[in-house]
Amino acid sequence: MNERDTETIRGLLRQEGYSFTDSPEDADLILYNTCCVRENPERKVYGQVGQLQELKAKKPGLIIGICGCMPQQEEELPVMLERLPHVDLFFGTHNIHRLPELLHRINATGERVVEILDDGGEPVEGLPALRDNDFKAFVTIMHGCNNFCSYCIVPYVRGRERSRTPEAILDEIRNLADAGVKEVTLLGQNVNSYGKDLQSDTDFADLLEMVNEVPGIQRIRFTTSHPKDISDKLIQQLGSLDKVCEHLHLPVQAGSNNVLRRMNRKYTREYYLEIVEKVRQAVPGISLTTDIMVGFPGESDADFADTLSLVEEVGFDSAFTFIYSLRKGTPATEMADQVPEEVKKERIYQLIDLQNKISLKRNQALVGSEVEVLVEGASKSDSHMLTGKTRTAKTVLFPGSQDLIGELVKVKIVEAQTWSLVGELI
Ligand code: SAH
Ligand code: SF4
Repeated sequence: MNERDTETIRGLLRQEGYSFTDSPEDADLILYNTCCVRENPERKVYGQVGQLQELKAKKPGLIIGICGCMPQQEEELPVMLERLPHVDLFFGTHNIHRLPELLHRINATGERVVEILDDGGEPVEGLPALRDNDFKAFVTIMHGCNNFCSYCIVPYVRGRERSRTPEAILDEIRNLADAGVKEVTLLGQNVNSYGKDLQSDTDFADLLEMVNEVPGIQRIRFTTSHPKDISDKLIQQLGSLDKVCEHLHLPVQAGSNNVLRRMNRKYTREYYLEIVEKVRQAVPGISLTTDIMVGFPGESDADFADTLSLVEEVGFDSAFTFIYSLRKGTPATEMADQVPEEVKKERIYQLIDLQNKISLKRNQALVGSEVEVLVEGASKSDSHMLTGKTRTAKTVLFPGSQDLIGELVKVKIVEAQTWSLVGELI
């Protein structure tokens, strides 16, 4: 979501005549797009932006800005304003389109500008975007979230669900296809509730069907799906729409019903497993990935054992694993029985270890198979090796010429590793 926002910010800046540099010393403007979902990245912002104080002293005309969801937190903003006195600009997730005007204001007055809006209002359409490549693109289909999982800050900083209209989404995707984009990833905090806030009765499964019709688009991905809202209709569509990739990211968060209840996830372990079963029946060979958290308040050894057993039972292809971190203003922060840091660490190591073994095993099962790969670039360590993604969202490395970047090719898998596959062009 933040990466997609960054593309809009870059698009707006390009329209304003800015060009881009990798070196802070050369920059007239340095913008940090922050995320407040977990604590660690927030700490890094204070460290990294803090270090720019010296550069700012040497180059007084330099504008430093912080945007994203971190300044969107009511309690964090005053701390940022005080601890980062050399930052000229603060804006949030709801007023990205106002960036040119905010910059003009700083240039005109030389004063610090802080503009944070509480409410997103209607989605703003027609903003430019500057993407890193021209063959795949993120497309936001909805903003915000209504779920209020008890650990999560997102609904507070990104506001309630606001779906873009199917017309606006399809227009954007048709334009992308005309520009040569082959793969789109539809973005929302919970795409399964797409359209519930619109007048039309288009739901997410219908939207997928419409996107599937767009000529030129060859792969459709989406993230994220909340298990409680995944419908049988959607599961059927996953199996029948040819461009929809065989991959489902379905965050489970925990394997214990006690924990799931206190997380306010609104499903049980049994329900989750039932969905997995249905999805695997509808789409044989689908890869399943997930988000899992350890150390949620009150998580006992037995609860954690339930997470491990669920991970084993499902056999995820891969998982994003997180240590629970307290977020101010969320209900879980107030819960008793916060889990000690060393216990959280011990648990995450165990979880990662188990998931790595499963990932490797699932990758090994692919050795000898032939897969379609969208070539994304050259390997950083060896320019003769290309890297790309299968429809099942697995990374494949294989020897080939850089002319193939952006193309769909057929590759035979010859070796499996935990995080990637090695192949040969067919
Ligand atoms: N909307 C998505 C997730 C968005 S946040 C969904 O519901 O699945 C991405 C992931 O960050 C979450 O799935 C969760 O695993 C993790 N996360 C969110 N809040 C967190 C917190 N307070 N501490 C640790 N991890 C958190
Ligand atoms: Fe956060 Fe839950 Fe919404 Fe995902 S569904 S963004 S975890 S509140």
